[in-house]
Amino acid sequence: MRGLIGNISRYALHDGPGIRTTVFLKGCPLHCPWCHNPELISHEPEVAFYAERCISCGDCQAVCPEDAILMHGEKRIDHTRCTGCGLCTKSCPAIALVMIGREYELEELVEVLLRDRHFFEVSGGGVTLSGGEPTQQLEFTASLLERLHNEGIHTTIESNGIFPRETFASTCLDHLDLILFDLKCIDSAWHQEVVGRGNERILENLSCLLKTRARDVIVRIPVIPGHTATPENIGQIADHLRKLNVCRYSLLPYHPFGCSKAAALGKIQKNSLPEQAMEQDKLGQWQEFFHGIERVLP
Ligand code: SF4
Ligand code: SF4
Repeated sequence: MRGLIGNISRYALHDGPGIRTTVFLKGCPLHCPWCHNPELISHEPEVAFYAERCISCGDCQAVCPEDAILMHGEKRIDHTRCTGCGLCTKSCPAIALVMIGREYELEELVEVLLRDRHFFEVSGGGVTLSGGEPTQQLEFTASLLERLHNEGIHTTIESNGIFPRETFASTCLDHLDLILFDLKCIDSAWHQEVVGRGNERILENLSCLLKTRARDVIVRIPVIPGHTATPENIGQIADHLRKLNVCRYSLLPYHPFGCSKAAALGKIQKNSLPEQAMEQDKLGQWQEFFHGIERVLP
């Protein structure tokens, strides 16, 4: 069994308790304009181009069998022609072309993750599956969680909440210690318009999860200027969480992480996002909406 992995990040401190290794799986059904990991939205491997490293040697153009390399203009790769063969990334002497997405056999990935077992044990950490949306590769994700849990590793998933509920419950849930559940807004029409899908399934999945695993769920709300960060939206989310008896929440301050990554893929993050990151201390006005619910730092 193989999974398509975008990145593996060791010694992560923000994706659950303790020191963690975070596995970023490719593929997401949403298109949030502020996505931190736009290179993980596609379900296929993609080539990213880092212009600042390029020495204009032309080796990539010489090896491309699809005539997809553009040596002039803003884009280096014509993604309508690129088949993802990876020849250009292997020939580039400057590591300016990088393949995003590599297939791992299940046991190969488990072996990589278990190398950090000592750090997990001394810090109370473990492994976090992120993305993308890890449940887009549900069979692989379920098998990976089961293997890790059988090894005694603490497991966390970061999810946008769009998953087939019964399959997730029967294959993943017993092997999860913590669920970081993203919630962007309550208004489904807004959700559809801004991130590409209505949110009915997300709200249903959250409600069902809380019935059995409330202490193991942290609801995470991205605070995005011009999008989610309005008193109406944050107020509706806070009211909804109180109604569902959510125990813990986090606010995720906006950061323009994804802009340069999107540019490397020849994409532009749109909808006039700010260039500056939001400071943690600017979250105070939004925290006030969540009185009665325990706040957890991301
Ligand atoms: S991945 Fe293959 S097809 Fe795509 S640009 Fe590189 S060499 Fe050409
Ligand atoms: S092979 Fe690498 S360094 Fe050379 S032109 Fe292509 S991207 Fe630039």
